[in-house]
Formats: sequence, structure tokens, C-alpha cells
Amino acid sequence: MQTIVTDSAEEAAKILNSGGVVAFPTETVYGLGAGIYCADAIRQVFCAKGRPGDNPLIVHIYSIEQLGDVAGDINSGAQKLIEQFFPGPLTLVLKKNPQIPDSVTAGLDTVGVRCPLNPVAREFLRRCSGPVAAPSANLSGLPSATRWETVYGDLHGKIDCVLRGEPSSIGLESTIIDCSGSVPTLLRAGAITLEQLRAVLPEIRLNVPAADEEKVPKCPGLKYPHYAPKATVLLCEGNEKIIVGPSSGYIGLSKPPEGALVVKVCSNLEEYGRELFSFFRRCDAEGIKVIYCELPSNKGIGRAIRDRLLRASGKD
Ligand code: AMP
Ligand code: MG
Repeated sequence: MQTIVTDSAEEAAKILNSGGVVAFPTETVYGLGAGIYCADAIRQVFCAKGRPGDNPLIVHIYSIEQLGDVAGDINSGAQKLIEQFFPGPLTLVLKKNPQIPDSVTAGLDTVGVRCPLNPVAREFLRRCSGPVAAPSANLSGLPSATRWETVYGDLHGKIDCVLRGEPSSIGLESTIIDCSGSVPTLLRAGAITLEQLRAVLPEIRLNVPAADEEKVPKCPGLKYPHYAPKATVLLCEGNEKIIVGPSSGYIGLSKPPEGALVVKVCSNLEEYGRELFSFFRRCDAEGIKVIYCELPSNKGIGRAIRDRLLRASGKD
């Protein structure tokens, strides 16, 4: 299959509307989109990524008016989060509208919904004939793609089109809040921080699985290995004296250890989040064997960076 690369949201939407699979830029990471009612395209999304069929897809909408086509039973907590954070890097898990195919939600009675803010994503979604199911546009298990070139490298020949945009401005996947039960729960940390969310809904709790939930995690994707480069990820605290071997990389906020070959010192947590996955990809491309990563605290977007680092290092 030939993969078309285009700058035209109109051309990309035409391809999706005729049953194609299209990668598109968003502010979090690039997404791999298919029309939710297009069974063949949904199958192709799972197949191209090598994504397990029990890991549901997030449904992307252009406007809040489309919410009713996707979800039902929107409680007052969800309503407040929608008012405050849509469009933006927040996914809400809601009771699903029964017309959404099971292949999209992996048979769950809930659906993850997001309304992106990135202008190219919005232009694309506005031209799509309905809601678009889209996981991250990368091979399953690898770090998410924050640049179109990475999407192309992972998926060319397996998808119909890449809508080319700027590198993702956030670089980390969306925050996910489960609003389908009685207590809203943070399932995945992201750029909308727990502090921002609790300022709107103080009762939001962290996702601590009860013993009987452990076999069926609330967020099915969390049980799979994630975000990992081929290199070994080692975590370090700032200013630690590290002896690095040959062929090591470093990313963090503090001064890098002596001898690291590929280095990214970030001036703040936002830059750290934006650069992390593309740094992992760069290290793999340059044959780096060990990547030292400074582990930030759980404050603000540090929580999301910490979560991705713990997973990438196999500690979570
Ligand atoms: P990705 O699109 O690759 O960032 O992955 C989406 C994440 O959202 C995965 O971890 C999914 O398991 C999770 N997700 C999607 N839909 C739901 C849902 N209905 N309930 C819980 N988690 C979901
Ligand atoms: Mg993903």
C-alpha cells in the first residue's frame, strides 16, 4: 500500500471519509484515525500498529455537539470538565452510546472521548463525516510519535495517509479521567494536571486498582508495555554522580553526566515533556544503548513525565 503524505486537511479527510486510515497531528501526540463506523478501517488501525484488540480506541470529536453521538449519561462532574477543558488534551471516559461499535471500545460499555485543540487536527476533524477513532500513531509498545517523520517511519506501507503538521506541542498523551462511575478517577496523567482538575472537581481520585479489578484494569492499555525505546532506560535524581558507559544518552533538567554521547538538557518540565519521546527515538536511531533520565517530582506535568519514565524503564 502506498502511504500518501499531505499538508491538506481536506485531502486527508477525503481519504478517511472513503474508508481510509489517516495519521494526523494533535497537540498531545500524532493520532491514527479511522471513521468509527468503518469496520475495515478500524481493523486496519489495530493491524498496522500491532495493537491488541482488547485495548480500546479514543474517539475524537470536532465539537461538543458531537458528544451526544458518542456518549450518554454525562453527569455534572463530566459536564464541568468539558466546560473547562474541551477542546484540549483531556480524554473523558463516559458511558457509551450503544451505536458505537464494540471494535472501537473493545467491548466495554464506556468510551474515551477527546476534542483536540490543535488547529490542523480541528480542521481535519471538521471535514470528517463523523467521529474519528484514533490511538497514538506508532507501532504498539514504542514511544508515541510526536513528529510526522516518526509516524511515517513506523507505519508507511500500512496506512493510507499521513497529514503532515508541526511537532506536537505537548508531546505526551492526553490526561484520561474516568467519569463513568460515581467517583471521577485519574486513569492516565497528562498535560492537564491533577492540580488543575481538582480545582474544578476536588473529588477526583487516583487510580488505585482494587484487588478484584487487577485482572481487568480500568484502563486496559495500561497493562501493556509502553513508551519504551530499544535502549535501556535508567532513572536518576538530579545532581547524582553517575558514571556513564560508552554509548549513553541523558535527558533531564540538571547538568548531564560526563561522557554522555547524546544529551538533552531541558529548561523546564514543559520542554521535558515535549522532547521526551522524540529523544527516545533519536537515541534508538543513533544506536545508544542506555538512556539516563532525570525523574521529576509528581508536581504539575511532572506527574505525567514520571509516569512515562517509570513505564519506559519497566518499573511500572
Ligand atoms: P492511546 O490512544 O494509544 O494513547 O491509548 C489510549 C488509552 O486510552 C489506552 O490506554 C486505552 O486503554 C485507554 N482507553 C480508551 N478507551 C477507554 C475506555 N473506554 N475506558 C478506559 N480506558 C480507555
Ligand atoms: Mg499509544
